[in-house]
Amino acid sequence: MKVAFLGLGVMGFPMAGHLAAKGHDVTVFNRTAAKAKLWTAKHQGRVAATAREAAVGAAVVFACVGADNDVRQVTQGPDGAFAGMARGTVFADHTTASAEVARELAAEAGAHGIAFLDAPVSGGQTGAENARLTVMVGGDPAAFDRAKPAMDCYGRAVTLMGPVGAGQLTKMVNQICIAGLVQGLAEGLAFAQRAGLDGELVLDVIAKGAAQSWQMENRGKTMLAGTFDFGFAVDWMRKDLGICMAEARRNGAFLPVTALIDQFYAEVQAAGGRRWDTSSLIHRLRR
Ligand code: NAP
Repeated sequence: MKVAFLGLGVMGFPMAGHLAAKGHDVTVFNRTAAKAKLWTAKHQGRVAATAREAAVGAAVVFACVGADNDVRQVTQGPDGAFAGMARGTVFADHTTASAEVARELAAEAGAHGIAFLDAPVSGGQTGAENARLTVMVGGDPAAFDRAKPAMDCYGRAVTLMGPVGAGQLTKMVNQICIAGLVQGLAEGLAFAQRAGLDGELVLDVIAKGAAQSWQMENRGKTMLAGTFDFGFAVDWMRKDLGICMAEARRNGAFLPVTALIDQFYAEVQAAGGRRWDTSSLIHRLRR
């Protein structure tokens, strides 16, 4: 299939690479051209100078950029992807953004005969590199069926959750569940250290019981060591929690712990941890 990929960051670079490795005809666009050059040095494919140029002739255009306004920038206007896409094609957005921007861009795409899927991912940098992402999709079932074989190149679970916006809403649930859990893990580990226990031994033991979690298995030991250089940055997490809280104001859900953890992450940012990974919540407990 002829496809385009917009945004070759921590996530997009390996995702686009899997598409090329599985034999898709890939054209990439990245705002900073050097990264696109690096991508073509490593993978089979072409570089375009704009999102529109990348999108011309593509059956599906993928994007994985930063936040709401970045998705608008790569889709709208004379250099945006929508201007280059033909009727009957699909735009699939892997950015973690609001459900609102998904609905707004789906309406605009629809006016051009283009289907829009919001398709945020979970699984982090390693999930992207190892093609083991969870992809949560909102949109039209026929468009989902057309894009899914390509998304299967980097997703181990690619699921249609409902109409446009449902993918982003599911990702919000994912982030809400993670926020409190990481704080609980941080408190437990900081407590173990103050109690004079062997933190690694504690982890080995309790990871076999009811306290076990992905965060405990994958981040527990590095949290004890104070190493926070694993992919998903605190800046991104605050962006995501902001999206969750804005949605909760609309739908009436209560997110008291999420709001508190957001403030804890603000403290981590102030301590210089904007690009630290999200397990750095433990840092503020050690002062
Ligand atoms: P990243 O490394 O900062 O990459 C972002 C990419 O988007 C870069 O290629 C950047 O181009 C491009 N971009 C940003 N704004 C743009 C704009 N206005 N116009 C054109 N290009 C733009 O970020 P990432 O870690 O890959 O994350 C991307 C998205 O996935 C975010 O929404 C994030 O929340 C989500 N996500 C990330 C992870 C993770 O573990 N990293 C996990 C799940 C979901 P430049 O090269 O020019 O900066």
